[in-house]
Amino acid sequence: MHETVFDRILNGALPVDSVYEDEDVLAFRDINPQAPVHVLVIPKAKFARFTEIADRPIEETGRLFSAISKVATSLNLDSSGYRVVINNGRDSGQEVEYFHAHILAGRRLAWPPG
Ligand code: 5GP
Repeated sequence: MHETVFDRILNGALPVDSVYEDEDVLAFRDINPQAPVHVLVIPKAKFARFTEIADRPIEETGRLFSAISKVATSLNLDSSGYRVVINNGRDSGQEVEYFHAHILAGRRLAWPPG
């Protein structure tokens, strides 16, 4: 797998506005926010796409999704609500080939998402 901007963030080469970290994930604010709250959650165990989750250990995936939920709760988003977005591949608009979940909140989010 080629090095992505998120590899550089995880190894400390690029500074970010970090909001949460544990043994499984790092969460930080998106550089180009699409909502008042726009946080990205990346796993420390790298893989490129959501598609690959089917071949990864269930335990690891469970911890990853648990951490995404914890990030949202730590940002006090539970009562107002939030959206979790995972882009996968070309038609989704995925730009960075390192798995990441977007947490979007802080305004009424349109549906369908466009
Ligand atoms: P994707 O379209 O791949 O699902 O989302 C990639 C996200 O990463 C975009 O929302 C983009 O703004 C964000 N991003 C790209 N480069 C950087 C960076 O260097 N720092 C931060 N904090 N976010 C970035």
